[in-house]
Amino acid sequence: MIRIEPRAGTGRTRRGTSLHRKTAELATRDESQSVLSNTDIAELLAQQAERETGILSRAFRRAARSAFLWPAEVSDLIEQNRALTELRGVGPFIEKQIRNWMEKPPRRAKTVPAVRQDFISLAEARRRLARRPAWPKKLHGDLQMHSRWSDGSGTIAQMAHAAKERSYEYIGITDHSKTLKIAGGIDERALKAQGAEITEVNVAIRKSGLDLTVLRSIEMNLNPRGEGDMSPESLVNLDLVLGSFHSSLRATENQTERYLAALRNPNIHILGHPRGRIYNFRIGLKADWPRVFAEAARLDKAVEIDCYPDRQDLNVELLKFAREHGTRISLGTDAHHPWQLEFIDVGLAAALRARIPDDRILNFMPRGELQAWTQRLRDRNTSKT
Ligand SMILES: [Zn+2]
Repeated sequence: MIRIEPRAGTGRTRRGTSLHRKTAELATRDESQSVLSNTDIAELLAQQAERETGILSRAFRRAARSAFLWPAEVSDLIEQNRALTELRGVGPFIEKQIRNWMEKPPRRAKTVPAVRQDFISLAEARRRLARRPAWPKKLHGDLQMHSRWSDGSGTIAQMAHAAKERSYEYIGITDHSKTLKIAGGIDERALKAQGAEITEVNVAIRKSGLDLTVLRSIEMNLNPRGEGDMSPESLVNLDLVLGSFHSSLRATENQTERYLAALRNPNIHILGHPRGRIYNFRIGLKADWPRVFAEAARLDKAVEIDCYPDRQDLNVELLKFAREHGTRISLGTDAHHPWQLEFIDVGLAAALRARIPDDRILNFMPRGELQAWTQRLRDRNTSKT
């Protein structure tokens, strides 16, 4: 039996139970929206996972997470008589369950736990962008992705090829840095060797007459004091430096100080996946976000929308604070495979929903302007010393 609260407007609304005490209200939905969206299905799958155990629980959990990256709405696939097993994470058993829900939609959950809130599906992101086609056209590139140098599956040439297919002007290769051993982080020597490979790839691209540049970058691991793990000399030849936290991400105290320290770190240009949240796994860190974004704006640094569907970090609610402070925003898919460059739509839709002005989005700048921005940040540091 699926435990779902009655929909608003049915006149049978129950009070939240202790299970839901820590959850927030979902926006009231219109009765006419009876068709389940992929986001609704994700929530049903996640709830089902909580009722199951063992393999089944894991399968539902995986499917819930995957629902955010399904390229089309389940309702459209059904209408087109297509099998749902073509969707990632969906086998025959889960397909049957989803079809049952679609035929007889359970009442929607009135509340969604905070760890699953404020995520939109790739299918929904695309619907939103389709209504504003001029917005995605402003995009020039993607500023976070991983290659085989760390934990990605593609070579730099393969990532560049995928970017070419999307008519990008640039991509930033941001492999992990040395202390993130679990993700195959690279040291200064490997970073230098990677730079040589990037130069070769760029030469080959130019020879073929294309206007695409692979930018040298890194996702530098930051400790909770906001310090990076790479020598500053190894970073000066990079086009961009992204800094991200990967440790102490379950701290419950206010983390404002670590963010301020990271932003003040002279080697960092962009703060990657700021909250450190992951769908249905980790809620992310707390901070005085208006203060963090104000400091980023003062320093002219950028904060990221990690567009990976189970991260969506920053999320729309926090992006609104960033907009108020005029903070620069960077879009990065955090792709670990060439096909994942398509996740950029999730970030584009979030920036659109938060009404971020186009001149605040790094990826809307042509390459020359982007490089001039990092140069200005660097010149400021040297003029200080
Ligand atoms: Zn990361």
